[in-house]
Amino acid sequence: MANEKCDLLIIGAGPGGYAAAIRAGQLGIDTIVIDRQPPGGTCLNVGCIPSKALIHVANDFEKARHFAKDSVIGISASEPKIDLAKTVAWKDGIVKRLNQGVSGLMKKAKVRHITGEAEIVDGKTVAVTTDGEQTRIVTKTLLIATGSQPVALPFLPFDETVISSTEALSLTKLPKKLVVIGGGYIGLEMGTAFAKLGVQTKIVEAAGQLLPQYDAELVAPVAKRLKALGVTIHLNTKATGADKKGLAVQYEDGSADSLPADKILVTVGRKPAVTGYGLDGLMLDRDGAFIRINEQCATSMRGVYAIGDVTGEPMLAHRAIAQGEMVAEHISGIAREWDKRVIPAICFTDPEIVSAGLSPQEATDQGIEIITNSFPFLANSRAMTMEDESGFVRIVARKDNHLVLGIQAVGGGVAELSASFGLAIEMGARLEDIAGTIHAHPTQGEAFQEAALRTLGHALHI
Ligand code: FAD
Repeated sequence: MANEKCDLLIIGAGPGGYAAAIRAGQLGIDTIVIDRQPPGGTCLNVGCIPSKALIHVANDFEKARHFAKDSVIGISASEPKIDLAKTVAWKDGIVKRLNQGVSGLMKKAKVRHITGEAEIVDGKTVAVTTDGEQTRIVTKTLLIATGSQPVALPFLPFDETVISSTEALSLTKLPKKLVVIGGGYIGLEMGTAFAKLGVQTKIVEAAGQLLPQYDAELVAPVAKRLKALGVTIHLNTKATGADKKGLAVQYEDGSADSLPADKILVTVGRKPAVTGYGLDGLMLDRDGAFIRINEQCATSMRGVYAIGDVTGEPMLAHRAIAQGEMVAEHISGIAREWDKRVIPAICFTDPEIVSAGLSPQEATDQGIEIITNSFPFLANSRAMTMEDESGFVRIVARKDNHLVLGIQAVGGGVAELSASFGLAIEMGARLEDIAGTIHAHPTQGEAFQEAALRTLGHALHI
């Protein structure tokens, strides 16, 4: 058995792990990162990137189908065809390029990257197995960045028919009938994409609303569009098992039904990856299944840190990256702590949803007196020229000093506005700052400025 030593050992080369590794390497910390799969983690290999690639293809395909039918903008086209195997090969090419990009950045930062299965021996020792060969690594600091895994339903184990997002993103043949269990963001992103590719899609959600973490106003345009795409939405409905035809469900009134499906996509959530690699032996404090961390991402054991999905919600790549960068600087002796005001969240649905900071309800629940208003894309010239006038931008601010607490938007392509929303809240903007910033014309960003003006009581264009 080989032996190695390092100053920082990271288990997991996802967005959290690779960000920490690169920053630590830049700061001169002798760093090893271990992952069983190519660098990039869930996000790059089977999450953010592959799903956005599929969504892009589905959007283009649907646009082409629209041109073949009833376009009012003067383009006509014949009925398009899709070669999903080619789509998947294209997507795999992007993933591979990015894997190589992350590898290159780690190499440049002099990070040692080991492909293999990590097993924690104690807080300072990890054994890694690569092709049957074991290496024992002793480290000064251990960083756990093992991410998360899809939750399976106990009565519906994954197989050829019952699949998770991972398998759905690599299908080379479209199913005829797809049932998605779970109306969260992953289920809706994938369900929308498959519906646009021509798959008969049904969504089963146990709660009374899709995307239950968002308010009904934000979700309504998404539900409307899903219906227009022919997606059937079953709310207050529980999946109970698979039968010969497809998925057995129980509706709110207790009646049972069977929804025909040749693929059942289970997207009922993700759970932290905390088992199977010796973590229990460290007896770390937990928040439920998540590893409990403090403002420096330190766990309850000295010298052991944790970041990313394994540490809690929101399970998002950019949270993991920010924690990774921060923890590397903290370990190197730079005074850092987690002082972020906002972690924007995006649903790449159609239309897209962006949420940054507090919703009106969340602010009110915290006892804050607020003013809030929204500006519709219906009155935004850029939205009209893009043939997508659904949705709005909404701002929530303190009534006393107009400090912006939250910004939400739903609309075509609003994901790109998330940077402005995050920046405004992080920099402590007041409504007057947004209203007084010249926003280029014609852009969707003007709806953000108009929402601020409207909240102040003097919108120009409505
Ligand atoms: P991960 O990315 O999960 O990486 C953990 C790594 O640890 C994995 O590569 C794993 O192989 C490795 N590992 C674990 N245990 C071991 C071990 N014992 N030995 C060796 N290696 C090990 N987030 C967004 O912000 N935006 C999006 O648009 C988005 N879309 C998504 C779409 C889908 C379909 C999915 C599934 C997720 C999506 N996410 C998105 C969530 C995002 O992928 C995660 O939040 C992010 O990847 C978490 O990063 P992480 O570094 O904590 O862990």
